[in-house]
Amino acid sequence: KTAIMLFTRDLRVRDNPALAAACAAAERVVPLFVADDVLLAGPAAGASNRVRFLVDALADLRASLRERGGGLVLRRGDPVEETLRLARQVGAEAVFLSEDVSGYAARRRERLGRACAAERVGLSEHPGVTVVRPGALTPANGDHYRVFTPYWRAWEAAAWRDLAAAPERIALPPGGAPSDHVTLETIAREFGRDPSPRLAKGGESEGRARMAAWLDGGPRGLQGYEDGHDDLAGDRTSRLAPFLKFGCVSPRELAEEARRREGGAFVRQLAWRDFHHQVTAAFPDIARRDYRPYGEGWRDDRDALEAWCEGATGIPIVDAGMRQLRREGFMHNRARMITASFLTRHLRVDWRHGLRHFAAWLADGDVADNAGNWQWVAGTGNSPRPNVVLNPLRQAARFDREGEYVRRYVPELAGVEGGRVHTPWLPPGKGRRGPGYPAPILEPDLLSGTRRAGG
Ligand code: FAD
Repeated sequence: KTAIMLFTRDLRVRDNPALAAACAAAERVVPLFVADDVLLAGPAAGASNRVRFLVDALADLRASLRERGGGLVLRRGDPVEETLRLARQVGAEAVFLSEDVSGYAARRRERLGRACAAERVGLSEHPGVTVVRPGALTPANGDHYRVFTPYWRAWEAAAWRDLAAAPERIALPPGGAPSDHVTLETIAREFGRDPSPRLAKGGESEGRARMAAWLDGGPRGLQGYEDGHDDLAGDRTSRLAPFLKFGCVSPRELAEEARRREGGAFVRQLAWRDFHHQVTAAFPDIARRDYRPYGEGWRDDRDALEAWCEGATGIPIVDAGMRQLRREGFMHNRARMITASFLTRHLRVDWRHGLRHFAAWLADGDVADNAGNWQWVAGTGNSPRPNVVLNPLRQAARFDREGEYVRRYVPELAGVEGGRVHTPWLPPGKGRRGPGYPAPILEPDLLSGTRRAGG
């Protein structure tokens, strides 16, 4: 029997239930990845960082599969058509796939199901993208959890699936892997043209090394997470998000290892990830429509949006976050909250604009986590306190007291010492503001954490 393992965002050989099931069910397994034109050139076009990270991950996956006797077939185009084309070519009787939650993934799954049925090819779906399967936990009186805390309680108490063994050998059909129709270099060149200068390298090997260093990293790692995760300059979070996004690291394995080391605060963040995935599975329009209407009109202010995107608002803590995003394809979670709150609550610009900009630059940019968090901050999502507005100056004083984070990312202010870097407009600020650093686009008096009218 021959099967196709269709990789999507589960780019690993360890604890990959779909891959393990394919290898258990069939004598010959043809691993496949289809570079999907719609995803590569679609609305998040310009997402060079994710394309580069993906290409790294595919190169690493291909090497791991080859070590086991297999390979990775690369095709380009529509994943459904390409999968069926390959199935005909190699005489595959079944396709194995990881379940996913976005609206796009759900439509792709449906089309694949129909196409497979029409050609009498089996389709077998497996968990692996989250710790707990979306939909596995449901509240007594609803189809999905809308509030995190009860979800977290159910999630913690739930039985997690067993880890899937990495296949030792993968046997290709006689004659070896069918030819590629596209190379990784072409994908990188065409769609990953301008990556951030300090983008992390992707792949399972890299992800596992980072995971190990994080779990056993002492106070700079998991052990210090509870106290250190909000310290902007300290940069004391795992930076595992892009590896989770592309499945280079198994969330299930990571959660178990962290739990074993009593890393409760960190495990809770992995539950947030699962939470947003199960919301997205139930509400696939999450990136377009308010999850919970919040009745406020947005302002159409292109200049403000552009200043925000460029990291040129004149509010140092906001600009530092936005510039970190461009430089690294990553932004600290606390800075994501500050910048998102500033855009939606102070500038009153529609969260969807912010979401798109994040999606264009984040290596971990993911529909469920990006949209879920944007809506949470904007007050249209499932936050139980939708009216809270973050005052960027108070946030800066709490989480970047000495101003180190701002100086790291805003060179115009690198010469300003201490926490004064957060208020370059105060006397004797004028002289100290480095050449070219803009005046604030919003009166600093308006930055206080007010509650929105009507809320
Ligand atoms: P750590 O603090 O080390 O956390 C470990 C893991 O837990 C993360 O890698 C991530 O998988 C998960 N996690 C942590 N916080 C959250 C959260 N609030 N929601 C969901 N999962 C979480 N995360 C993404 O993965 N992709 C996104 O597109 C994304 N967009 C965001 C947009 C906004 C406006 C905000 C406020 C947050 C967003 N986040 C997103 C969540 C969070 O900021 C990142 O997951 C985190 O900063 C990644 O850094 P880390 O891996 O060092 O996280």
